Amino acid sequence: MSLLTVILSRSPSQDPRKRELEEQILAALSREPDVTVATIPHLYDFVEADESLRSVTGSLLVLAWLYPRAIHWTLDRLSIKGQYGNTQIPRPDSEKDEPKNSTNAQARTIWSLDLRDGDTAAMHIAEIQRILRDLRATTPAATSAPASVPKSEIGNQKSKIHRWYPVIDYGRCNQCMECLDFCLFGVYGVDDDGHLIVESPDNCKKGCPACSRVCPQNAIIFPMHRTPAIAGVPGAGVEVQKLDLSELFGAPAAAQLATAERNAALAAAEKEAKPKDNLDKLMDALDDAKL
Ligand code: SF4
Ligand code: SF4
Repeated sequence: MSLLTVILSRSPSQDPRKRELEEQILAALSREPDVTVATIPHLYDFVEADESLRSVTGSLLVLAWLYPRAIHWTLDRLSIKGQYGNTQIPRPDSEKDEPKNSTNAQARTIWSLDLRDGDTAAMHIAEIQRILRDLRATTPAATSAPASVPKSEIGNQKSKIHRWYPVIDYGRCNQCMECLDFCLFGVYGVDDDGHLIVESPDNCKKGCPACSRVCPQNAIIFPMHRTPAIAGVPGAGVEVQKLDLSELFGAPAAAQLATAERNAALAAAEKEAKPKDNLDKLMDALDDAKL
């Protein structure tokens, strides 16, 4: 019987320090009797068609190299829903805005921990042990769930495809549809109830975060973007986003910058679609030769 399933999302990089931290956490959890542990490839790269994560039932804790808000809404996108579990990992005051619950949240709780918090495994292990103590104290033995993940590794471990797509924070989204109007690549759509969805995520242009700048609610997250306000830092509300953008990017207002980014993505896409002329072929050959 298991009280808690812990999913550790591997770093997309091969950084040995990250691997070591992951292994230390896994080793400590292997000694906990009430925990089912599994590792997955980088959560953000998970494809929607892979149902292995959806088979996880009961209380769930996800460790990933992402902000907790990005983890929560990436899980929501994969139809892994639950109440947001509060944690006691210390964060700066500006990052205290915890995500609201997933749409159609189930009764179960999902905790999200950012593996970038702190330099050692000890803090994460201590927090998981605290959550376990609380669960043991509040869960009658008869209601412990059977281990919900049959294998220690789930998902396509061999996948080398690094994805790039927007993740929607539905706790903030007010359904204004500005992103739908703004994006020229058909990434967004609406569901049968007229609600915004990320319909064709892989149409998104790698590196383009343009629509996150025009969203009035700062509800669009690009978890792998270098700017914390765009990558889903918990406290990055609308005001922080505007301030962050003007400070970081200087002269262009957010909307101008977003338009420039989107148009650059469009020009790149058109160039890609155009048949290559002799000069393009020569440049490709020089690139291949690494001159
Ligand atoms: S622009 Fe932002 S708030 Fe408006 S629909 Fe898109 S995600 Fe939601
Ligand atoms: S980042 Fe660019 S390509 Fe991707 S959804 Fe937003 S506007 Fe469209």
